[in-house]
Amino acid sequence: MSPAEAEKKEHCGVFAILGTPEASLITRIGLQALQHRGEEAAGIASTDGRQVYLHTGEGLVKDVFEKVDIPAKLPGFAAIGHTRYSVTGAPSAVNVQPLVVELARGRIAIAHNGNLTNSVALKKQMEADGAIFQSSIDTELILHLIARSKKHELKDAIIEALNQLEGSFSLAILTADALYAARDAHGFRPLCLGELKGMRVIASETSALDLVGAAYMGEVKPGELLTITKNQWTREPFTVPRPESSCIFELIYFARPDSLVFDHSVYRFRKELGRTLAAEAPVEADLVVPVPDSGFMAALGFAEATGIPFEPAIVRNHYVGRTFIQPSQEIREASVRIKLNPIRHILEGKRVIIIDDSIVRGTTTRERVRSLREAGAKEVHMRVSCPPIRHACYYGIDFPDEKNLIANTYSVEDTAKYLNLDSLAYISLAGMHRAAGGKNRYCDACFTGRYPTQVDRSLRKDALEKGAQQMELEQPRPPSPEEKKD
Ligand code: SF4
Repeated sequence: MSPAEAEKKEHCGVFAILGTPEASLITRIGLQALQHRGEEAAGIASTDGRQVYLHTGEGLVKDVFEKVDIPAKLPGFAAIGHTRYSVTGAPSAVNVQPLVVELARGRIAIAHNGNLTNSVALKKQMEADGAIFQSSIDTELILHLIARSKKHELKDAIIEALNQLEGSFSLAILTADALYAARDAHGFRPLCLGELKGMRVIASETSALDLVGAAYMGEVKPGELLTITKNQWTREPFTVPRPESSCIFELIYFARPDSLVFDHSVYRFRKELGRTLAAEAPVEADLVVPVPDSGFMAALGFAEATGIPFEPAIVRNHYVGRTFIQPSQEIREASVRIKLNPIRHILEGKRVIIIDDSIVRGTTTRERVRSLREAGAKEVHMRVSCPPIRHACYYGIDFPDEKNLIANTYSVEDTAKYLNLDSLAYISLAGMHRAAGGKNRYCDACFTGRYPTQVDRSLRKDALEKGAQQMELEQPRPPSPEEKKD
């Protein structure tokens, strides 16, 4: 993770498969492709039809499973896996997923990507009823809701639980004999379905399907529940349809460029952002330089559209340890210099356009611009392939507090001055949506403040641990004409 990436941390990755004695080994491979979605912890739960087994640990997937005899420790024909970054709950061992609990109906495991916006209220209510929580993550609430359901069939209990959740969830649930996958009705986070030799595979991104050799069968649709057993699989809506609000930031930055997300090629979308930016905010220059890694595709699109040569003149050092991802300003600035090194003999005397996917706090960008000038760049212009980020995300992306978002404090002109840029332009909101196909199926609340659901503004990271705070409700965004049409 680069220092800039550390400013807007990712959430989680989910993988699941049923139908092979190698389920946990395949899940281990799938998790490797989802490593970018969470570097703090990883885990797999498996079942052999009698029992649900679990292995989790803190750190990268390779570290968690390096010394584990996976077939012996995680036997069975089905498995679910998770890579974690803590959006709610501190990064501690009890918060690692999959979470496994013993219910009256048997052992059950869950792996969840997302953020429940009614978690504080739900937790308060359950604690008042005597519930005891083992972890501080909102995922545990889902297990409590399933446990409390009076429904006879487990699937009905799951459906009842899902209907009490608000916010974002893409999840996999494993019992001794079945695998369930569900996505919230707004479709905030991605979840896709694949097929491997007749087996169903579930993954946050299609790059994980590619890695295990599974064919892409499309998205798990918003508001849909999949039930997969050895003999059959079914899909059904578990709730009433709501306006789709998939997280456009998944396409801009979070997802891997080799993935299809929300049925879109991430690579093509980012390139289109670059082309759109070139049309909206042209500038005379000698070189187009991407900020590694996520600025690459937009820079390619920008260079193709303008004819200005593309030069990857900032080199990323992939071997800097996680030690450098620290909250202090000094260390963050130092880590920028260590991680991204400009190539002096390419940049010297040149007018440079740097392309990045976003500016969050601005501190890393400022440091980067300084290093480009030190490397001899004559002019430094910046084009950003997303609109200014001005608002918090309540659906699973951990941006800093709003007061620390540079676009919340400074105008574009003042931001350019602060960053010591010759010019700065962001893609327009309309341009971004056009690049995504023009349909208003995306959440853009971090740019507009128009949240697709009611949100509890006290629900920042660790709100669950701090307990319920003052509930300040944002009004949901009214549906756009396109949404009404849809
Ligand atoms: S607020 Fe932004 S980051 Fe959060 S879900 Fe919406 S688009 Fe994604």
